[in-house]
Formats: sequence, C-alpha cells, structure tokens
Amino acid sequence: LRKGVECVVDVQPVRWEDIGGLEQVKMKIRQAVEWPLIHPGAYKRMGLPLARGVLLYGPPGCGKTTLVRAAATASRVTFLSLSGAQLYSPFVGDSEQLLTEAFQKARALAPSILFLDELDSIVGRRSEGSSSHSVQERVLSTLLNEMDGVGIRKDEKVDRLLEEDVQEGYCTNAVTDIKESEFRDNTRVLVVAATNRPDLVDEALLRPGRMDHLVYVPPPDTEARLQIFGVHTHKMPQRGVDLHQLASDMEGYTGADIENLCREAALCALTENLQAVSVGPDHFQQALRTVKPSLSKELEQLY
Ligand code: ATP
Repeated sequence: LRKGVECVVDVQPVRWEDIGGLEQVKMKIRQAVEWPLIHPGAYKRMGLPLARGVLLYGPPGCGKTTLVRAAATASRVTFLSLSGAQLYSPFVGDSEQLLTEAFQKARALAPSILFLDELDSIVGRRSEGSSSHSVQERVLSTLLNEMDGVGIRKDEKVDRLLEEDVQEGYCTNAVTDIKESEFRDNTRVLVVAATNRPDLVDEALLRPGRMDHLVYVPPPDTEARLQIFGVHTHKMPQRGVDLHQLASDMEGYTGADIENLCREAALCALTENLQAVSVGPDHFQQALRTVKPSLSKELEQLY
C-alpha cells in the first residue's frame, strides 16, 4: 500500500489471558477467527463453512480491538488494519482505491486478517437522500464486491507495491512457506470489523457470506471487572487494596476505564512520594475522583 497508510501492522502481542472476563466472547472469537485460520482442514472435515467476515460490536472501551489483536497474535497470520480516519484522510487520495489495495495486499499476504476498525465510519448506512456517488457509497460497494470475492486478480502492481513495502520494512509476514496455490486464496482472508454503532452499519454488509458472525462484546460485570483489575494490577505492588469491593462498586466502568484508574492510582502514589513502593486504597479513592465511568444506561440500551 502507498506510504502514508501503514495498513500492515506489527501486532503488539496480546495474549488471551491479558483480557479479563469475556470468557464466552473469547471462545466465540477463537472459533470464528483463530481456529479457521490455523486449522482450515478441521473445518472442512466437519463440513463447516469458513467465515468471510466477523463483526464485533458493543460499547467503546470494552475490549473489541484488544480481542482482535489477541486473535491475530494467536493465529500468527498477517494483520492489516484500516480505519475510517485512515481511509478518508485528505492526505491519502482515493478511498476506494485504498480499500481495494488493502484487500489485494491481504490476499497476497494470506492467510491474513484485515481489520476494519470503526466500521460505521468506513461504511455508514445509505441514507435516502444521499447521492449514489458519495464516497461512502462507493467505498461500501467496493467493500461488498471485495467480500464477495469479485475483483480477485493477480496483478503486477500489487507485487511491486508489496516488494517495495517489504524492502522498506512496512510489512512482515509471519507465514513464510505459503504455496502459490494458497497465495491467492480468497477464503483465507478474514475480514474482522468492529463498531460501537451497529445500527449505523449498512445492512448489505450483514448478509450471509459477508459478515457471517456477529459477536457482541458486552460491558464487564463485577466478576469481569475484578479480572480486568487482575490484568492491570498484575505488576503493581499494592497494600491493603480491596479489589473485590472496588470491582463491585464500579458499575458503568469499562475495561479502558479500569486500566486508566489503575494507572492514575499508581501516579497518585508517586505524586505523593516518588520513593513509594506500593499503591494503597487511598490512591485508588483519589483516582476515582477523576476517572469516571464511561457507560450509562442510555448507552447500554443502544445494544
Ligand atoms: P473502541 O470501540 O473505543 O475502539 P474497544 O472496545 O475496541 O474500544 P479496546 O481498544 O480493546 O476497546 O480497549 C481499550 C483499552 O482498555 C485497551 O488498552 C485494553 O487494555 C483495555 N481493556 C478493555 N477491555 C479489557 C479487558 N476485558 N481486559 C483487559 N483490558 C481491557
């Protein structure tokens, strides 16, 4: 892909155990993303179709992106990521062309995951009055075509772009022994998308053969909040902090809020005394004055 849109990314490794709670969601994602990429033969043997697309939806800050990264880490496939902000940046040029190139690259580097972050900002719902030639409309139809497998082509331009990118260190491909027959295999490109606003995603994308699996990533309950605390205080020495109590008092806090709270509490301890060796309950209480819950009942009702 052109320079400026670094769509092949090195996945900051995330292990499944770095994600607190969400046990059922993790299992669904392993089944829909990780296993088909690592063991396509097993799916074939069982007569199970390989999904083309998986859509994760749910409130912000509850772990969608982290889950996709964990699946990519575990699958050890090429990971490409594209967001609306990248696609519609005034500096990158033609958005449809960028999307097409992302798919071409994903195919060339298959097996791969193409992650579409903030899917609603990439392809919103078509509105009645909008012109059929709006950029978003064209991007949507490009995405639908690509997902349907139209436009698979072995093309010299892609090979050249890839070569350039490899030389310049933009891409890494975890799988080295790809056979030529598999190299262009469209089924091994899995599109994984995430959105906070599933209601804004065009229905055409949700038809079978496109986003085959919809996975809801819910806000954490008390038990999940406790486990998220476990993840984010793992390396933090504490004294006398009742994480059970904190977790049960923190209705409305997301995983991202809990991560912030832990960071704030440690900073409070250091602000008090740079020589501090542990974080205490007061520091968490102080942090709670600034870190507020992101979730509200109204927000949760969206899902
Ligand atoms: P958005 O929709 O805003 O992109 P998201 O649902 O994709 O949010 P993430 O980006 O995955 O959320 O999470 C934000 C931060 O919160 C991450 O840095 C992650 O470490 C932390 N986090 C969220 N959920 C969890 C969890 N269940 N366990 C551990 N950390 C979590």
